[in-house]
Amino acid sequence: MAITPMMQQYFQVKADYQDAFLFFRLGDFYEMFYDDALQASQLLEITLTSRGGNGDDRIPMCGVPHHAAKNYIDQLIAKGHKVAICEQVEDPKLTKGVVKREVVRLITPGTHTEGKSVDSKSNHFIAAAEELSGGFSLSYIDISTGESTATYIMGQGKALLQELQSLGIRELVVSDSLFLLLNEDAQDLLLSIEPMEFLYELDGSLVKECPAELTGSSHRLLTYIARTQKQSLEHIQPFAYNEEGQLLSIDFHSKRNLELLQSIRGAETKGTLLWLLDETVTAMGSRKLKQWLHQPLANKSRIEVRQQMVESLIEHYFTRVELQNALKEVYDLERLSGRIAFGSASGRDLAQLRSSLEKIPAIIDELSGAGNGRLSDFAGRLDRCGEVCELLEAISDNPPLSAKEGGVIREGYNRQLDEYRDASRNGKDWIAQLEQQERQKTGIKTLKIGYNRIFGYYIEISKANMHLADLERYERKQTLANAERYITPELKEKETLILRAEEESLNLEYKLFTVIRDEVKQYISRIQSLASTLSALDVFLSFANVAEKYRFTKPDFTDSRDISIVGGRHPVVEKMLNRQHYVPNDCILTEDSNMLLITGPNMSGKSTYMRQVALTIVLAQIGSYVPADSAKLPVVDQIFTRIGAADDLVSGQSTFMVEMLESQYAITHATERSLLLFDEIGRGTSTYDGMALAQSMIEYIHEKIGANTLFSTHYHELTPLDQSLGRLTNVHVAAMEQSGKVVFLHKVKPGPADKSYGIHVAELANLPQKILSRARELLTTFEAEKTQQTRQIEQLSFFDDRDTDNEEVIQAISDAKITSMTPLEALQMINDLQLKLSR
Ligand code: ADP
Repeated sequence: MAITPMMQQYFQVKADYQDAFLFFRLGDFYEMFYDDALQASQLLEITLTSRGGNGDDRIPMCGVPHHAAKNYIDQLIAKGHKVAICEQVEDPKLTKGVVKREVVRLITPGTHTEGKSVDSKSNHFIAAAEELSGGFSLSYIDISTGESTATYIMGQGKALLQELQSLGIRELVVSDSLFLLLNEDAQDLLLSIEPMEFLYELDGSLVKECPAELTGSSHRLLTYIARTQKQSLEHIQPFAYNEEGQLLSIDFHSKRNLELLQSIRGAETKGTLLWLLDETVTAMGSRKLKQWLHQPLANKSRIEVRQQMVESLIEHYFTRVELQNALKEVYDLERLSGRIAFGSASGRDLAQLRSSLEKIPAIIDELSGAGNGRLSDFAGRLDRCGEVCELLEAISDNPPLSAKEGGVIREGYNRQLDEYRDASRNGKDWIAQLEQQERQKTGIKTLKIGYNRIFGYYIEISKANMHLADLERYERKQTLANAERYITPELKEKETLILRAEEESLNLEYKLFTVIRDEVKQYISRIQSLASTLSALDVFLSFANVAEKYRFTKPDFTDSRDISIVGGRHPVVEKMLNRQHYVPNDCILTEDSNMLLITGPNMSGKSTYMRQVALTIVLAQIGSYVPADSAKLPVVDQIFTRIGAADDLVSGQSTFMVEMLESQYAITHATERSLLLFDEIGRGTSTYDGMALAQSMIEYIHEKIGANTLFSTHYHELTPLDQSLGRLTNVHVAAMEQSGKVVFLHKVKPGPADKSYGIHVAELANLPQKILSRARELLTTFEAEKTQQTRQIEQLSFFDDRDTDNEEVIQAISDAKITSMTPLEALQMINDLQLKLSR
């Protein structure tokens, strides 16, 4: 037997969708064949069968019912696969031979916008990239909301992949050549090739804000979306582009180290800054907050606009409560817009849009009634979308999910529709009356009139009462086990009227519904801009609540680079600890002293202190208040961190490499206006190696970069560096010994730490006493040896021989009070010392 025409059709379609599961519509099922079937039956745990149709071979096959397909599609997409939906595009009743079938949509991880695996509180982006010299252009779109962004990523493929990872992007559209470049490192990221054979006509207004260089990736992305989704892209918003210097840049590792959106341990949000800040009440607001945290600002006036809104809201407690209550009833306008653009919005969606828009006047009144200029200005930016409200008056209060079931359009909107409905309703009343009449006439109390799709309306009489049936009038239609069903001519006549009225009514209703939906489409960009303003309001409210709840304060920005944080806290650690126990600390950096070398025992709070400074800067630059008694801050251009997780210690060499790579990245990219955090540099290698590297990095940053820097170390040997490096200051996190045990005070104090508490920490961990006392013994000997050695190293490095003159010179240098010397005095001193040496 040859290949059947249907299988021929299948092979043709499948040829174009090699990389996807082809859901081939056969009647009420989507069937999969061959490899698709073998794989899908395993992935979805459904039964594998087979059928004929290709010569003597059996074709492996499995299928899912079309009404349950969503769930299966969702599962395949969540596992990183693509699904091509191939529908019958002709009415099988009207065609001879094989029904025409076409792929109507290719669902991919980046374009899948609905289902259990899609988190409504996060954006769901699909991206495209193009190679540029020295980097890439990257464009990304959230198809469900229409938000789009274009940006530069400087560096190698790795930098691009990291950016995608931190944006949570699961699918990247690329050219053939970029595919080859990235494929090896792509891991969980799906790379989709868009050959650009069919060119999507790029609407210039979508890319008007971007440099021409970036539009390549935007174009490739839109082409891919148009080709695979075969749906309207009217809701795609112009690509947002932030000019250089507008944003605070924080690289992927630093974002993770600081636990802004994700904890170091993985995807969980508990313990992150997001977790602390997110008191938004809408999914749109939650997404906006994530975007802001992902891209803090570096433009003072833009930051201050946000800050002022937060300030105003803090001043008006009751306004805040009312606004949040109103916002809670606003549905996801961005995703609703997306569905309206796609033409997939249901009656329920339109009702949700209407009830959301109905809240806008109250929100406007609340804002303008507070008696605050900024809040009323903000109210002025909210668009009531009156035209849309008018259009949506047609929608009934509680429409069903499916627009084809009827009940979507409200009574009184359309005369014709009301007439059909009356006719059907009257008919049904008539039938109810008939039931009563027939019961009386026959004396059968259980007689009833029912309806099914095959026989229409019928009179049903149980077997027991059959002898009472009026067979003069009744015509037998169907026999059941315990009942007979009859019809009468007048019943059939009424039935025709009812059914016709119902059908007409449903058709008309659906038509009216689609007309309204299409008309609403024209207003999508206004609804989107309303959504964006509302989601910002939601975030401002969240900031205001958080500021009040955790006693945050409004930071002032200075044009200098000085940092002055008084009574600063790490807000997340504080929240976890319960605030009574958190010890606030100051951080003062000035032009003359902008590097802190932080010493102190393990677990004393060095890394917490460094992180709290970085988080304070981030919070300030997203427009939030900050966890401190007062804060004067510069606008920082970049934050770099090299902060090890505790478990880094275990993994040794490769971790050290990571440490060096991160340091390299920080040192090559940092500017004077950056903030650098280096935690325990060099601990991943041998003591001298590590110490040497740490010292040379400090010197390099001090001499060549000049960025505000916090550097923590357990190498006490580094603390004398403040003598040679003018802008370096020692601080330590205090700990105290109490009856032989260490007590952490978590207080940052001036000067270096004077003692290593490692053994006491070991004691806290309950190591056997024998080990502890032996360690104390060894420590004493090591310390004696070290003092000896250090002296030798210093002498070796500075001087060739060790005569007494040199000893004197060394003493003089180390005693010198550089900070209280004038340059002239210093010169004089050097001159004196030189004379001593040349003697
Ligand atoms: P280090 O970097 O010095 O080893 P960490 O910064 O990791 O120490 O701090 C260790 C623990 O000490 C933290 O997990 C936190 O519980 C606590 N801690 C740190 N700083 C403070 C503080 N200022 N107030 C109260 N507890 C603190």
